[in-house]
Amino acid sequence: MKGSIRLITIAGIDIQLHWTFGLLIIGLVVFFGMRGLEPALAVLGIAMVMALFICVVLHELGHALAARRFDVPTRDITLYPIGGVARLQRIPEEPAKEFWIAVAGPAVNVGIAFVLLVIIVASGMSIRPANLFDLRAGFWATLFWMNVVLVAFNMLPAFPMDGGRVLRALLASKMDYTRATELAAGVGQGMALLFAVMGVVSFNPILLFIALFVYFGAQQEARYAGLRSVTKGISVRRAMLTRFEMLDPDDTLDVAVERLLRSSDQSFPIIRDDEVVGMLTRKRLMKALEDHGLTTRIRDVEGIESAPIEDSVMLDQAFMRMQEEGRTSAPVVRSGRLVGVLTLDNIAEVMMITTALQRNNERRRVRNQLAATD
Ligand code: ZN
Repeated sequence: MKGSIRLITIAGIDIQLHWTFGLLIIGLVVFFGMRGLEPALAVLGIAMVMALFICVVLHELGHALAARRFDVPTRDITLYPIGGVARLQRIPEEPAKEFWIAVAGPAVNVGIAFVLLVIIVASGMSIRPANLFDLRAGFWATLFWMNVVLVAFNMLPAFPMDGGRVLRALLASKMDYTRATELAAGVGQGMALLFAVMGVVSFNPILLFIALFVYFGAQQEARYAGLRSVTKGISVRRAMLTRFEMLDPDDTLDVAVERLLRSSDQSFPIIRDDEVVGMLTRKRLMKALEDHGLTTRIRDVEGIESAPIEDSVMLDQAFMRMQEEGRTSAPVVRSGRLVGVLTLDNIAEVMMITTALQRNNERRRVRNQLAATD
């Protein structure tokens, strides 16, 4: 993930820290400082945040290891100030698998909470909920309640929370996957509105933030399920451009300008000895013109690297990858040789075509039904 540093590798999965996490630590130090906490207590506060994030890592590892049991690899686990994200290579469409992967995370926190509870009770410490945020009352009791909150929060039936996935898996065992996603996303957005109202009424900015997070998470999930349903079984090969202009790393930018004007292409694969070197997009080209002028060589332009996609990859996966990497186009290869260019426009066109054909099918079905009742 961009902007992250690798902390450690557990069970072959990289655990990464996103740079915004640094802001959280700085914020905490400032917060403790302003509250005039004794240094010892501030250290305890930071230790609490660390302990909490270890619990979050274990939670994400729960997802990752459950996914591995179903042969779904995890790319990495990234820690953000608001929590962790395990980037699974794909989410299985089989409801039972998605259910177990989603439940595995919160189950880890239930386990941690149980162990903490046993320790606290055995050693005669207090466990009253009032201990939350009052570290003086007990480090372990606070950590126990934090884990309880983590479970409750994650099991809310709203995407992108685990509870949203559990809900979709349960619905999908009864109905079509896309319909189940739409319903689960609707429930999520309803909850988001509820959070927003509660946030406004109680002047709680954190609730408002969660509301936004849930709202857009649900929207994205519904959109992706829609994309999956209309591009089902279609590979990159079917969608890619096969007529396109290319550039050589030794070409100067005026060659690129000429290609841009002469063709309808907006991004150009850069090829050297049959090997894909990268991609020059219109946006990059404009930036390079602004910075360097027409006589610069393409190989000296920054940010032209663009990892090729195999033509046999499914379209929805290629789309996910391009979105994650913030690309609007990608070179497509078959056994290492360039065979096409995939753009977001291609993908949008495929979606329009299949949607039109699906409607046509639907219409014909209705017409046949009407004819049968005549
Ligand atoms: Zn989770």
